[in-house]
Amino acid sequence: MTGLSQVQQAEKAISTVLRRTTEVPALGYHIGHFTQTRDLLVEALATIRGEPIKEISQRFFPAQHPIHLGAARCPFCGSPSLEIDADLDKHVFVFVHCVVCNAAGPTGENKEEAIAKFLARSYC
Ligand SMILES: [Zn+2]
Repeated sequence: MTGLSQVQQAEKAISTVLRRTTEVPALGYHIGHFTQTRDLLVEALATIRGEPIKEISQRFFPAQHPIHLGAARCPFCGSPSLEIDADLDKHVFVFVHCVVCNAAGPTGENKEEAIAKFLARSYC
């Protein structure tokens, strides 16, 4: 990266990784919301750019993709196509959303908790 300062190189590398998480669902899943990797990248970019962390986090919203949880199905419609979503306003909670019937939640503090709670639901 000829001609770029060390900070510019870091900014370019970090923003490229974060942008890829918005384009590639697998990356958005594995280094998306609620991962230490994402937290570190967002914080570093916010520091370099002098922008609020929340603004950077919202700009690079990780791509979502349906997750297939083995034999697990939506408890309401039976679909295997479920998504992990995040409540960005509260910025703490994650929940499962059914692509087919739109059932969602309840929230959990991490993906595993949100999945377990969603699959345990027996009410709409
Ligand atoms: Zn459903």
